[in-house]
Amino acid sequence: MKIKSRNFISRRKTALATIGDVKIGANHPIAIQSMCSTKTEDTKATIQQILELEKEGCDLIRVAVPHQKAVDALPDILRKIHIPLIADIHYDPRLASLALEKGAHKIRINPGNMIAPQGKLSVLNAIGIKSLEELIRKAKKHKACIRIGVNSGSLEKDLLEKYGHPTPEALVASAKRWVRFFQDRNFKNLVLSIKSSHVPDMIRAYELAAKMGDVPFHLGVTEAGPTFEGCIKNAVGMGVLLRQGIGDTLRVSLTTHDKCEEVRAAKEILKSLNFYKKEPNIISCPTCGRTEINLLALVDSVKAMIRDEKIKGALNISVLGCTVNALGEAREADFAIAGGRKQGNIYYKGKLYKSGIPEKDLLKEFLTLIRSKTDSQFKV
Ligand code: SF4
Repeated sequence: MKIKSRNFISRRKTALATIGDVKIGANHPIAIQSMCSTKTEDTKATIQQILELEKEGCDLIRVAVPHQKAVDALPDILRKIHIPLIADIHYDPRLASLALEKGAHKIRINPGNMIAPQGKLSVLNAIGIKSLEELIRKAKKHKACIRIGVNSGSLEKDLLEKYGHPTPEALVASAKRWVRFFQDRNFKNLVLSIKSSHVPDMIRAYELAAKMGDVPFHLGVTEAGPTFEGCIKNAVGMGVLLRQGIGDTLRVSLTTHDKCEEVRAAKEILKSLNFYKKEPNIISCPTCGRTEINLLALVDSVKAMIRDEKIKGALNISVLGCTVNALGEAREADFAIAGGRKQGNIYYKGKLYKSGIPEKDLLKEFLTLIRSKTDSQFKV
């Protein structure tokens, strides 16, 4: 069953998952995640990176927990950050259990690589079952969430043998197995991700999984690549799914020095489908032979102004080089600039506010207008 939401997109109806004070699924806003690139045990660097990501708009943060030192660092990190923390654990259910004791709000595990020692993929075994059941008990006790993270790079051996490759069907078979395992033990605070670095497989896997139950989905294209390539792959993969109402939280994974790029990209993907209402959407033209103002500099300045003035809310701000499309865009925008020959017009809510403003004064006038209108209406 689907529920109506946000203009023309009906989001998939899901159960609710609670991660600290963030709720996902059940028609809650789609949460943005990122993952630290620091060594978790380097608490200074990790906290600094998380605080920067928080400032950028990150809702949930994940850190790698590959050993005891990382577990031991969690309390200090948790004390100094303001968003829920997810511990990312492979192979060792004991580390996952300790991370929950230290206060992690959620753990991300791939159960398939936890059921046999030394990370060997295998089908269920008695020791594996026991350790996962212990993990479930611990997560219930601490009211923590668990993400089952099925990944094309670490599919169980029996499924690889059956399907030949990590096909979408094989990934979904793994997801089904683990969701059932947790649900049979009455564990409900679940999130599922089914990631592939191959975008068509990732899309197909989520589409198939969407038919099998109501567990909220974490979307992602795994190992998506450097910023430019990765943003496009993520936008295509996630865009196709979000347009179908599939997806409750997401991470744009990028090979980047600046982790805030992941959050910026996620916000733009969500804005493009009307899912992100916390900050303005910028409409600007690509410039052409008709442009007679320095539009590139003006757009940069408008972006900086939005950031510096902390202008919030789902506003449309349009900056165009000439009047060819400007009147139509201005009608739809909350605030708009249309350039002319070394001058420009400013519009507010589709109506002309001031015309013939010299280029050097355009930004100042625009800022004056936005300040006068946003203080009472939009700024938070
Ligand atoms: Fe060219 Fe005007 Fe279109 Fe900008 S809005 S690309 S200046 S025609």
